[in-house]
Amino acid sequence: MNKAFVKESEDPGDRCPRCGGLGKTVAQNTLAAHLEPAARASLAESAFFCDAPACPVAYFDHFEQHVTVESLRQPLYPKDPAAPICPCFGLRCEDIDADLEEGGVARVKAHLELARSDRANCGVATGDGRSCVAAVQKYYMQRRGAR
Ligand SMILES: [Zn+2]
Ligand SMILES: [Zn+2]
Repeated sequence: MNKAFVKESEDPGDRCPRCGGLGKTVAQNTLAAHLEPAARASLAESAFFCDAPACPVAYFDHFEQHVTVESLRQPLYPKDPAAPICPCFGLRCEDIDADLEEGGVARVKAHLELARSDRANCGVATGDGRSCVAAVQKYYMQRRGAR
């Protein structure tokens, strides 16, 4: 990627044209994994993922071009809360809820071990191309706090 196009996170171009939320920079291989070539071609090389669950925009660029969740090859968390939070290993929010229900961390712990192994493919499996570990931890803490 051309470094000249990587803007500071405060740059207004990083804001989703629909919801105004801050987008996360995504790599080309992440886009290629989730979009058909035609949808991908409609975006500039430097694109962002909008992770606001209620916003229909999935990816956008600095030129306010965007593709919506309908263009995704498969539903992605958190755009679709029922989609696996970790697409590589199929961990779902309901699995995390089940751990909380039992008062344990068996499923979360087993998942974190897998996610840190060489078999993890979160880089292209998740919508933002980042490891799902942070998303899993965030969800766990949120749900635990809500109980
Ligand atoms: Zn948005
Ligand atoms: Zn994962």
